[in-house]
Amino acid sequence: MRLIDLSSAIDAAAYEPDPIEHNVLTPRQGALHMQSEMRSHFGLEFDPDVLPDGEFLSLDRLSLTSHTGTHVDAPSHYGSRTTYGDGTPRHIDEMPLEWFLNPGVVLDLTGYGTGVVGAADVEKEFARIGHTPRDGEIVLLNTGAQDRAGTPAYFTDFVGLDASAVHLLLDLGVRVIGTDAFSLDAPFNDILERYRRTGDRSVLWPAHFAGRHREYCQIERLANLSLLPAYGFQVCCFPVKITGAGAGWTRAVALLED
Ligand SMILES: [Zn+2]
Repeated sequence: MRLIDLSSAIDAAAYEPDPIEHNVLTPRQGALHMQSEMRSHFGLEFDPDVLPDGEFLSLDRLSLTSHTGTHVDAPSHYGSRTTYGDGTPRHIDEMPLEWFLNPGVVLDLTGYGTGVVGAADVEKEFARIGHTPRDGEIVLLNTGAQDRAGTPAYFTDFVGLDASAVHLLLDLGVRVIGTDAFSLDAPFNDILERYRRTGDRSVLWPAHFAGRHREYCQIERLANLSLLPAYGFQVCCFPVKITGAGAGWTRAVALLED
């Protein structure tokens, strides 16, 4: 069994439009903090220098969105109402674990510029790889966007799916669609530019809004998809259980048989 890391890092030093705050309490600062907490809460005196190396434990405090780094979008991210089920979308902590450990399929979309691909392009890719996704399989889009990760271009230059492509995958029984790009939809600037030009509302975030009518999850900001075969491997992408959240970070990994 071989493991391939499909996750991008949550890195406060990398460029983000919505910057990450990552504050570290070092093990020494942890010792001093413990000393003051013991004094104020319990009236106990504690000498931090009796600890090995004078150190206690470190602590990381982060401020970031649930869409920073590799993450799974839940139906509640797409809107507050659905046209399926009881009309209420599920949050990330409510999604079935069974969705997130399944055979994977990689589609190569690296040949496309910024914008969207449709169902016909996706079907062409099924024919090229000789495999059509089956019920429950996790479809991963290798757009090549990973090459721009950590730069402003990562957020403005990539290809997404239009509604026809999303519906084609959902019709096949796919419930999780992943991408190495910032979004499963086209970039904000590209969408708004096409909307201004055409006045066509259907160009506005069709991949995300499809999730108001059919329940599915997206994985965004994946990495290393070019290291995978087109199919014949498992994907593990359990989202972090954040109560009531529209997304959760995941350490996505591919499992390949030797
Ligand atoms: Zn997201």
